[in-house]
Amino acid sequence: MPVDGPKDAGGPEDAGGPKDAGGKPPPKPCPVCGKPANPATLPFCSPRCRDVDLNRWLSGKYVIPGRDTDPEDAE
Ligand SMILES: [Zn+2]
Repeated sequence: MPVDGPKDAGGPEDAGGPKDAGGKPPPKPCPVCGKPANPATLPFCSPRCRDVDLNRWLSGKYVIPGRDTDPEDAE
C-alpha cells in the first residue's frame, strides 16, 4: 500500500510560551462544606466548619470503639 503524500516528520516542536510559574495556588474549597476557603480560617470557610472538622477528627481518632486494646497496634 503506497503512502500518498510526504509525511511531515521531524518538525521543530514549538515548546510553548512563557509558563506562568510561581503563581498563587488556586484556593482550595472548604473540606467540610465545599465553599471557598476563608483566608482567616484556612483551610476552612468559617470557624464553624473548622470546628465541625475538628470534632470529626477527634471523634474518629480518639474515640475507642469498644475495645480497650488493639493487638494489631503492636509492632
Ligand atoms: Zn465550610
